[in-house]
Amino acid sequence: MSSIVSLSEDLVDLVDRVKGFMPEAEGIALHAAAQSYFTGGVGVEIGSYCGKSSVYLGDAARLRESTLVTIDHHRGSEEHQAGWEYHDPSLVGADGRFDTVGELRHTLAEAELEDVVVPIIGRSARIATWWNTELDLVFIDGGHTEEAARADYEGWARWVRVGGGLIIHDVFLTEDEGGQAPHRIFRAALDSGEFAEAAEAGSLRVLERIKPSPSNG
Ligand code: SAH
Ligand code: MG
Repeated sequence: MSSIVSLSEDLVDLVDRVKGFMPEAEGIALHAAAQSYFTGGVGVEIGSYCGKSSVYLGDAARLRESTLVTIDHHRGSEEHQAGWEYHDPSLVGADGRFDTVGELRHTLAEAELEDVVVPIIGRSARIATWWNTELDLVFIDGGHTEEAARADYEGWARWVRVGGGLIIHDVFLTEDEGGQAPHRIFRAALDSGEFAEAAEAGSLRVLERIKPSPSNG
């Protein structure tokens, strides 16, 4: 297996300036995990926002000559809407709508990742209805409602190849720390018997597929 390298200083500086929700220690763990799962295939990220986690995943994809597909409708989750806790008014477009797609493109260009990372603008569950490609890894960091998290788990975890990674962000053990939907899909993945815990950092959980998905043979 190829050795795991750390993010270049330039990318550490860049990622620090990108708006988003990926603490550095968790990003570093994400970068390392992704290097161990990318083997020249495709990985999917759900929840691009402005591309902070996409830089960690995208750099790992580049190192392993793989492709990262990053999915987001770019309208923000509930907590990003006006009046909510994580609303950023600088991300409202000229048409009055919340829109992070320009920031994502800017981040990918700055990171020189435009040849490696392929953004898809759309609802993750809609894209999952026609997706048909086995994946080296899936990173779930999209909507945090029960319904959204469940749909992402059901629509995307099945495509992770045996030996590939399912990585979930914002897994909190108690309601005081944060919403429980990501924690519930993490539990569902373990309870399925198809995944085993491989690593963790902060609220990031790395699972590895140990049994084929019954849905995908
Ligand atoms: N990974 C990012 C943070 C993602 S925030 C970082 O490192 O900073 C969650 C993102 O998920 C938001 O941009 C929101 O627009 C997106 N999202 C929420 N529900 C979604 C859905 N059903 N389909 C696609 N994107 C969704
Ligand atoms: Mg998150």
